Amino acid sequence: MDLNSLSGSGPSVVVVGAGPAGLTVANILRAASVDCLVLETESREFVERRPRAGVLEEWAVRALERRGLADNLLARAQRHTACEFRFDGRRQRLPYGELTGRHHWVYPQPLLVTDLVREYADVRGGEIRFGVRDVRLHGLDTAAPAVSYADPDTGERHVVRCDFVAGCDGARGVSRDALPAGRVRIARHDYGIGWLALLAEAPPSSDCVVFGVHPDGFAGHMARSPEVTRYYLQCPPGDDPDNWPHERVWSELRRRLAAEGAPPLVEGPLIEKRVLDMHDYVVEPMAYGRLFLAGDAAHLTAPIAAKGMNLALHDALLLADALVARLTKGDDSGLRGYSAACLRRVWDYQDFSQWLSDVYHGTASGDPYRAGVTLARLRRVFDSPVAAAAFAEQYLGTDLV
Ligand code: FAD
Repeated sequence: MDLNSLSGSGPSVVVVGAGPAGLTVANILRAASVDCLVLETESREFVERRPRAGVLEEWAVRALERRGLADNLLARAQRHTACEFRFDGRRQRLPYGELTGRHHWVYPQPLLVTDLVREYADVRGGEIRFGVRDVRLHGLDTAAPAVSYADPDTGERHVVRCDFVAGCDGARGVSRDALPAGRVRIARHDYGIGWLALLAEAPPSSDCVVFGVHPDGFAGHMARSPEVTRYYLQCPPGDDPDNWPHERVWSELRRRLAAEGAPPLVEGPLIEKRVLDMHDYVVEPMAYGRLFLAGDAAHLTAPIAAKGMNLALHDALLLADALVARLTKGDDSGLRGYSAACLRRVWDYQDFSQWLSDVYHGTASGDPYRAGVTLARLRRVFDSPVAAAAFAEQYLGTDLV
């Protein structure tokens, strides 16, 4: 496309993708009176209902609160201060709130996205075009990049010129592919493990997150709301969710989460059932020319340690502040340091996910050596206050923003 043939001016920033990362960037830009446009391939209804994450780190909530983006969250989210491991038929509770004075918030991702869309579009008057097709990025290595898309109704191609592009279009978007090969490095890791991700229309069966470390495979229990609970079951990668009918799911969950004195699971209809092939990737650097990636577009962290949305928010907060500084004061130091600042936390969380994956999956690996090491690690967390505090620090995430 010949950008020189285009005339007219567009917004300062085009944000590609209306997930937690893109909407946070857009809200902060809008609050600073920086003109921006959000492009999203799905409908508003779809993004406001898509179930995924739920565990938010305290620093992220405080950072959203400082920007006026956490009113509903603080009114409705549950505070979590402990988690429980079940292994060897026993329950071991880790009161990380007592150890650190800090906690998690549990707030379903669709509610956060709904709040962020409403604040940006309905309260702050920002523009989002939903349902756009065939988004393409142009001229990223020039001072005047552009983003084009096809109109969902007419098929007509629109071109939007801008100063910067925020690539927040998640793991399956187009922004990452716009980085020229040879200018970036993509590190990948495949765990060789699948997780059956389930949402049950049933109240939580425990007041905290429960991790079942069982010789037949990992099982997880995570509250989402008083009515809905997320469960995970380790399964072969690529497994078909249809191999997991209702009865099989609940009998496996009961078996893998069984422990002396544990309350029975509250069962209910399964409203989501999908297999996740557990893998990670990290793009370095997270920027090229006038394009800056944020969130899952730049790095994927398998939901082992509930870190993905927290990383997406961290990137978005840094990127938005850096864009505001550049566009309102001409200060480009934030943009220059953006990628390195994000990647520091990204690699820290990748490391913790690796460690936790070994703990979750070691006893089911079929390798007695790995199983022995896994149990030693778990016992250490509960026998040593230093090991418990180190776990709590990583589980809660570093307080930086
Ligand atoms: P996304 O939320 O994926 O948003 C990207 C947006 O871009 C989407 O709306 C998409 O429709 C849109 N898009 C895609 N392509 C285009 C395009 N070409 N043009 C325009 N728009 C486009 N993380 C946690 O921190 N805690 C948890 O407890 C947790 N649990 C999880 C459980 C599951 C089952 C899964 C799958 C993930 C979980 N995560 C968790 C991860 C978390 O959901 C993601 O990391 C988070 O959604 C990333 O936000 P994002 O804004 O970067 O990307």
